[in-house]
Amino acid sequence: KYVLGIETSCDETAASVVKNGTEIISNVVASQIESHKRFGGVVPEIASRHHVEQITIVIEEALQQANLTADKLSAVAVTEGPGLVGALLVGVNAAKAFAFAHSLPLVGVHHIAGHIYANRLEQEMEFPLLALVISGGHTELIVMQEHGDFTVIGETRDDAAGEAYDKVARTLNLPYPGGPHIDRLAQDSTTAVDFPRVWLEEGSYDFSFSGLKSSVLNYMHNLKQRGESPMPEAVAAGFQNSVVEVVTEKTVRAAKEFGVKQVIAAGGVAANKGLRKSLTEAFEKEGLPFYIPPLPLCTDNAAMIAAAGTVMYEKGLTGNMAMNGRPGMPLSSWI
Ligand code: ATP
Ligand code: FE
Ligand code: MG
Repeated sequence: KYVLGIETSCDETAASVVKNGTEIISNVVASQIESHKRFGGVVPEIASRHHVEQITIVIEEALQQANLTADKLSAVAVTEGPGLVGALLVGVNAAKAFAFAHSLPLVGVHHIAGHIYANRLEQEMEFPLLALVISGGHTELIVMQEHGDFTVIGETRDDAAGEAYDKVARTLNLPYPGGPHIDRLAQDSTTAVDFPRVWLEEGSYDFSFSGLKSSVLNYMHNLKQRGESPMPEAVAAGFQNSVVEVVTEKTVRAAKEFGVKQVIAAGGVAANKGLRKSLTEAFEKEGLPFYIPPLPLCTDNAAMIAAAGTVMYEKGLTGNMAMNGRPGMPLSSWI
């Protein structure tokens, strides 16, 4: 069974063919990062325009690399939401047109379900499962009892972790997206500024990163007023230590409380070296299987959408030509 996946929720135009929901046959991603860099973030109008320019080429390329024609496909899966409305619409309309032209079922996939199912392209999922979804727009802990069953047990109350990374990077004059630059500086640093850890109420699995971000901003401001210049490595390391410590503690505690058999991480910030190391070591100590997909599957891609879409298709969860981009789509279960 071959499923074509399409993803355009933010700033990557992506298409992919996945076999049986587990095997990548082709995976094409056209990134727009260069176009958004000089604005220090994603500009929605520019994103939509790039998607329009790229989408047909990217889909063609994915089919060509897979050496498949449309009649060999079983379904078309597309990111229905959440994301930028203009960006989502390009993917959804391309998927609708493709599905209509080739008489294929259409599957609307939640972007975060996609990030989670990226793991299934590496190893079979085992339930109950805990997923840490940590990206530019999300920081969530999700428990799954079976395929398509999602319970959000904790989420950020303000900024997503990636958002905080990008904002802190900006105050350090690092290019967008700043996450990888902070990560690199933190790795190189031998000292770290002591920033607070934000735990919230006892037992809570929620996160908050805006207070930490403000602490970094205040620290920089105070130094500047005293005429001193900050050590960017020490600031980056201090910020990263705080994020990593809180995320690791909450993820490990959740895994134990919910008695899960497998823990997975997903989303762009799961690429973070400090976080990978800390989580890997913590779960090694707990004796729990912990997986992070390889980098290209952590960030936005269409293989993950095809992977999740295949399971939805198998469950008969297909959409129709009335499908629309849903910018605020909630992560609801398929069962
Ligand atoms: P969402 O999936 O929530 O809609 P998104 O698509 O913007 O958001 P991703 O593409 O999954 O998110 O990830 C991008 C984010 O990951 C950016 O904020 C970027 O700074 C961050 N990021 C990437 N690499 C690293 C790293 N090594 N350390 C920390 N953050 C990183
Ligand atoms: Fe994403
Ligand atoms: Mg992105």
